Amino acid sequence: MISPKTLDRNKIAQQYKWDFTHIYDNWEAWKSDFNKIKDKLKKLEEMKGQLKTGAESLLAAFVLMDEIEKVLYKVYAYPALQKSTDNRDNDVLAKMQEVSMFLAQFSTATAWISPEIMEIPEEECMEWVEETTALQIYKFNLQKTYRQKAHILSEDKERLLSYFANPTSAASNTYSMLTTADVKFPEIELKNGEKVKLTHGEYSNILNTSKERVDRKKAAENFYPLFADIKNTLAAIYKGICDKDVAFAKSRDFESSLHAKLNSNNIPLEVYTNLVKTVGENTKGLQKYHQLRAKYLNLENDYHAYDSRVSLMESNKKYDFDEAKGLVKESVNLLGTDYLKKYETALENGWIDVFENEGKSSGAYSMGVYGVHPFVLMNYNGTQDHVFTLAHEMGHSLHTMLSEENQPFNLHEYTIFVAEVASTFNERLLLDLMLKKSTDPQEKIALLQQSIENILGTFFTQTMFADFEWQAHQKIENDEPLTADTLTEICEKLDEKYYGKDVFTRDKPNIFWTRIPHFYRSPFYVYQYATSFAASASLYQQVITGEEKGDYQPLEKYLNLLKSGGNNYPVEQLKKAGADLTKEETILAVIRQLDEQVDELEYLLMKNR
Ligand SMILES: [Zn+2]
Repeated sequence: MISPKTLDRNKIAQQYKWDFTHIYDNWEAWKSDFNKIKDKLKKLEEMKGQLKTGAESLLAAFVLMDEIEKVLYKVYAYPALQKSTDNRDNDVLAKMQEVSMFLAQFSTATAWISPEIMEIPEEECMEWVEETTALQIYKFNLQKTYRQKAHILSEDKERLLSYFANPTSAASNTYSMLTTADVKFPEIELKNGEKVKLTHGEYSNILNTSKERVDRKKAAENFYPLFADIKNTLAAIYKGICDKDVAFAKSRDFESSLHAKLNSNNIPLEVYTNLVKTVGENTKGLQKYHQLRAKYLNLENDYHAYDSRVSLMESNKKYDFDEAKGLVKESVNLLGTDYLKKYETALENGWIDVFENEGKSSGAYSMGVYGVHPFVLMNYNGTQDHVFTLAHEMGHSLHTMLSEENQPFNLHEYTIFVAEVASTFNERLLLDLMLKKSTDPQEKIALLQQSIENILGTFFTQTMFADFEWQAHQKIENDEPLTADTLTEICEKLDEKYYGKDVFTRDKPNIFWTRIPHFYRSPFYVYQYATSFAASASLYQQVITGEEKGDYQPLEKYLNLLKSGGNNYPVEQLKKAGADLTKEETILAVIRQLDEQVDELEYLLMKNR
């Protein structure tokens, strides 16, 4: 089935819906588990002050915490997943709120643990670990705790800082209100007479899909002032955010705001600098792609940003869900029989909620439920894009399964840094399979374009953004002014570095700094999209070349990465698998991938003119 003819969930066959009985038979069973962990949390609180007394108490606290968290996965997922399938169900919403309240209690009730561990001298604590076998699985957790110690202040200073958490989030909240709640979106009339309100979603929709150039131009021209007209206010807000980052970094004795942000996952600074530098020096493929587009669209010398996303060739092919399952399954063949067997289980047993229905959350995700299995949410509509979404989310699910199976509970959870390697690796497997299978040039062109756009969006653009954030923060750190003009200047220079001088016709300055929510919500976050993508491309390259030569070591290393959960710092995990993000080589894997795909696209486009 491509998609059912109904949005009524009750009318969709059970085989396409989640089976919640895998978690609990009913709400009574949920309630009973919930009560059990509430009791256990009380016991954990009673342990306060005892951790210092010896290895046994420390171990007991860790074990109890694991017991609570293990069950918490299920207690959380049971209402959360049901809510996703119908956000209007008030009973479920109420239960979800109960869980949220418990989560807040849980974090308050466990806040004493790390500070108390830090009171134990590190050397002594490590001796306990050596002497107590059962404590050894917690060694990495302890090391992480002690690593933080250098940047944790005395209790009174920590308290003082905590008073400023809310006031310093004002800038970020203001941005969000100004660009969502209080924004007056313009209305435009399209060529066909239809009137549309130019929301963020509608704007990208027109730029991505509208074949009418006048409509794209109109959308761009009407959307631009939304930000340009308030650029001074936005600059003041953004400066507030950079100021805050710099102030907190200084308070905690970090070398810079970037050092502070990288610290939580122990990411070396070179990972960031290597990415920004290497990508910045290798933008030829990106420029060639846009030149190719300009030529193909007959827009040479008049190619605008609003022409840069619309598809070159539409593939109208729809994929039945069974066909999609067949394709994704075939694509992971190369990862071995154990992987494939797990993959089949995940596809066939009510682990995927496939189709859209009224009230269901949009988009797609994979949520691991410890001790049960991962749950995948889709809103499958049969497009090529959604077949890739299925491959992506399944990649996350298998990563979850392998980590859960091979790691103790406290180490099974992986970071986002590694997570997107598993998902994009599988997208690449699918792309190569579909390119190989396809006999339809239109489908092939659509596939290549989708893949290239993906590289541009996840890798190049995010790296350019990362470069921007770094430069802006450095201005504050160097006591230089940060105004709308200086911010625009950074963007303009980056624009030229990435896209060259004459690929695009620009009649207005590039002010991307005004409209990227990530800059305002979570600074220094976006680089991770690019590094994950690079690690994935590099590992993919190694696995494929290995296979061709009959060398299965790269594959084994890759599978070991998927099995490693969170048993080390992400950069170390990736390095062990073969992708060293401090090395230029790793980043260049994506650059080469882009170059190859652009060349192939060029060939196909010329052939099909
Ligand atoms: Zn993902």
